[in-house]
Amino acid sequence: MIGIVGGGLAGLAAAHRLREAGREVRVFEASESVGGLAATYETAGDRIEAYYHHLSKSEETIVELAAELGVDDRIEWRIGENAYYVDGVAHPLDTPWEIAAYPHLSVYDKFRLAALTLEVDVRGGRPRFDTYDDIEAFEDVPVTEFLLEHTTRGVYEYFFEPLLDAKFGDRKDDVSAAWLLGRIKFRGERDLLRGEVLGYLDGGFAVLVEALVEAVGRERIDTGTAVTDLSFGPGEGRASEPAVESLTAGHRNGETETHDVDGVVVAAMPDVLESLTGYACDIDFQGSVCALVSMREPLLDTYWLNIADDAPFGALIEHTNFVPPARYGGEHLLYVASYVQDLDEELWQRDDEAVEELWLEGIEALFPEFDRDAVTDVRVSRNPKTAPVYERGYLDMVVPYDLASAGLSGVYYAGMASRAQYPERSLDGAIEAGYAAADRVL
Ligand SMILES: Cc1cc2nc3c(=O)[nH]c(=O)nc-3n(C[C@H](O)[C@H](O)[C@H](O)COP(=O)(O)OP(=O)(O)OC[C@H]3O[C@@H](n4cnc5c(N)ncnc54)[C@H](O)[C@@H]3O)c2cc1C
Repeated sequence: MIGIVGGGLAGLAAAHRLREAGREVRVFEASESVGGLAATYETAGDRIEAYYHHLSKSEETIVELAAELGVDDRIEWRIGENAYYVDGVAHPLDTPWEIAAYPHLSVYDKFRLAALTLEVDVRGGRPRFDTYDDIEAFEDVPVTEFLLEHTTRGVYEYFFEPLLDAKFGDRKDDVSAAWLLGRIKFRGERDLLRGEVLGYLDGGFAVLVEALVEAVGRERIDTGTAVTDLSFGPGEGRASEPAVESLTAGHRNGETETHDVDGVVVAAMPDVLESLTGYACDIDFQGSVCALVSMREPLLDTYWLNIADDAPFGALIEHTNFVPPARYGGEHLLYVASYVQDLDEELWQRDDEAVEELWLEGIEALFPEFDRDAVTDVRVSRNPKTAPVYERGYLDMVVPYDLASAGLSGVYYAGMASRAQYPERSLDGAIEAGYAAADRVL
């Protein structure tokens, strides 16, 4: 039997791949429900993710999995509109004429921004088309330095800096240019006249999670059960290299159980891998605080609002400007979100009520017409480890799928510190990581 630590998308995908190959599996999930970071809340209609989620057009593995599980007809490709809030005004930035009208970039700034996003290096006045082909060559270049050299100060200050601040806070100077170039290549598809094409599932990502649970077999998944220990014995034929032999899991009620295993896939954060095996990973992770605000009326005209202004949050994401509110019994759903780089930060230290108060006040400051009485519910989720800091030298720190090379025979890794979760962590990346670990087992 292969034991799987974690019932997020990575663990479920690994279990599914192993089941398809006829292997016996058991998934252990510490929390009361599966889904991990893609877990959902109830609404007056469909379920909704606790943290905002959408797909990019470049992500294929998740679409193929949905087809295999018979839920691909639930995938919808919609336009996810973007805007920037600067000096009291939300500027839409989806179509060429909206970008042309954006007053904070000059014509030359826009030309340099367009050149970079099309991966053309125009420095020195002579276009070069291969500068950005070898992303790894930019692994040691700080992203800020890179942007100031490869675009303009205006592009940096009025386009990229607000994004970097929202995504990495005071760690932005540690991030590599390779990450940014990877993100530019990773971007999906744009409808030239309307904006970026993004994916969602009719019924939310819970539909996919549920289909995976069915495929793996509900009876093979133990929720409320945290893996606390692995034990190793002499490996077959390689006596000098110990192999994993059993796994111990603890229930909330204090009972523990031990299972014999032929292998273990750790599909959780690297600190879980470290506590079970001693394998240490140096990647730093950021935490997230995210509120889902239910409202009787809409707040924004866009799906995603980047804030290039002082605000106590990084972005406002009005989900029901992407998926219609009718799906949620008419509720308008707004995510207010912020990453935290350090758990000593004031935001993390606040309790949920204090976060709610701070953020509703912040919305009032940006949108004086915002009516708090229209808010019917606020649900705050937080998790201390939700996104890697893609700092310089990141690729040297990723955890291998098969840890035999680290002397841990029979231990495999599919969590967020794996290669498939670079240059952006995603549901698609989690599925790819799960598959990659399962393939190493097989
Ligand atoms: C704010 C935010 C926004 C995001 N937006 C998007 C988006 O728009 N599009 C997108 O594709 N992705 C998005 N993501 C990323 C996506 O959610 C993750 O990449 C993906 O869900 C990771 O899946 P995972 O299985 O690797 O990890 P997780 O979902 O973290 O699952 C790991 C599981 O392991 C369990 N576990 C931990 N320790 C143990 C133990 N000892 N024993 C048993 N179980 C254990 C945990 O409880 C958890 O359920 C977003 C994430 C966040 C936080």
